[in-house]
Amino acid sequence: MTATASDRIALIGGTIHDPATGRDGVVDDIWIAAGSIVARPADPRGYTHIDCRGLVVMPGGVDLHSHVAGPKVGFGRRVAPHLARSPGTPAAVPTIHATGAAYAALGYTTVFDAAIATSAAAIAHLELADLPILDKGIYLLAADDAAVLDALARGHARDTERLVGDAVRAGRGWAVKVANPGGAAFWRHGRGDHHDLDAAIPGHDLTPRRLLERLADAVQALQLPHPLHVHTANLGLPGNWRTLLETMRSLEGRRAHLAHVQFHSYSGGDLDEGTFGSGVAPLVEFFNAHDSLTLDVGQILFGETVAMTGDSAAAEHLAHATGMPWISHDLHLSGGCGVLPIAYKEKSLIHAWQWAIGLEWFLCAADPWRVALTTDHPNGAHFTAYPHLMALLGDAAFRRAAFARIHPAVRSRSPLKDLDREYSLQELCIVTRAAPARIAGLVRKGRLDPGADADLTLYRPDRDLARMFSVPAKVFKAGVLVAEDGHLRATPSGGTLAAT
Ligand SMILES: [Zn+2]
Repeated sequence: MTATASDRIALIGGTIHDPATGRDGVVDDIWIAAGSIVARPADPRGYTHIDCRGLVVMPGGVDLHSHVAGPKVGFGRRVAPHLARSPGTPAAVPTIHATGAAYAALGYTTVFDAAIATSAAAIAHLELADLPILDKGIYLLAADDAAVLDALARGHARDTERLVGDAVRAGRGWAVKVANPGGAAFWRHGRGDHHDLDAAIPGHDLTPRRLLERLADAVQALQLPHPLHVHTANLGLPGNWRTLLETMRSLEGRRAHLAHVQFHSYSGGDLDEGTFGSGVAPLVEFFNAHDSLTLDVGQILFGETVAMTGDSAAAEHLAHATGMPWISHDLHLSGGCGVLPIAYKEKSLIHAWQWAIGLEWFLCAADPWRVALTTDHPNGAHFTAYPHLMALLGDAAFRRAAFARIHPAVRSRSPLKDLDREYSLQELCIVTRAAPARIAGLVRKGRLDPGADADLTLYRPDRDLARMFSVPAKVFKAGVLVAEDGHLRATPSGGTLAAT
């Protein structure tokens, strides 16, 4: 296809942050033709020049773990209608159109829904087709399917690969996610409680540990772009740091992605609040030493939101702990989900710990290329709060002021009080686009060299990082100006990212 004059753009004189090519604040021009970044042309005539002097230029944001479509998101809108009506703030669970508009205005150009049952894939794609602007994909909960679970139990690698491959093709999935390995089977048999990785999955000659190992091997054999996406057992439960450590040990030597580790890093042996705390130290030590593992944090931020998960047991536990009414939904007796409103409070001991534990992960993980910035939207916080989270990482004084407001017991015991690290702009760029793109296996995204998709976000430099990242000056998706100063300028439809 030859480029027409209207889709040739030159962004002149911006300050480029492109970690994939090692450019860290280099003033340069970016040339765009037919939706892609191209090399500086020999003949620059016909390109529309845009003056970018003084602006920070980054690849478009990539959210590799969010919840924006499918049955549980629909229930989320129903269970928390009051959170859709607060004036001036986005709905906790926006409509699909508003979701795309808000992500684009924020400078995000790619999003993945991280938990779609295989039986809900078709409806999720129908919904996502109405999510404007962004490219989008889904992770399939293939291990909840009875046939896949049987193949995993038999330890038959060839059958497992064939069935998982069929599910990914039929559901046009990007990746395979496991939400609480064997959790759907435990749940059906009334075993929603704490169990370790070696407990027998009811009705199967299989344990969560074997399931994880065999499923990770199958995903690797299928050569999907993204490795197995793991939400391990015991989400949200005191003492669950041991389960995450065992999960990492089981997966050692395999590529695997650990989802929302904040929710899996708690010390304490029971619901006695005095023993609840951070289990991050041994976990991050193991993580830092094992390059084949990547993670997203699932940071919580204070305020009201909606919890939604394919892990029904975790939702039931949370509903009992908070006394909130909840919805448990079952999909054809295989997968399911739980949904309930939640309000995270600074003065709550548990919530303050969760907040501090997420930040401890960010500040102790040595290699930002193996870390993706997420809030597990909307579970930990709304995605529109990402700029606030970026400020907590990039501005130690801002973080200290927030730390001073949380529950005093957490202030005295959390290792966060001694962590002075500040993320640089380049590191913030890594954890919000370059790393999630690389971890997800998107070869044309999260980078700004010739051949990459022309997804770019331009920011006005500002010492107030929350303000800087909240309202990008300009956002381009596939070379089209889609947002400017918080206002939408165009709503092209994005593409579907499917692995096969
Ligand atoms: Zn999630």
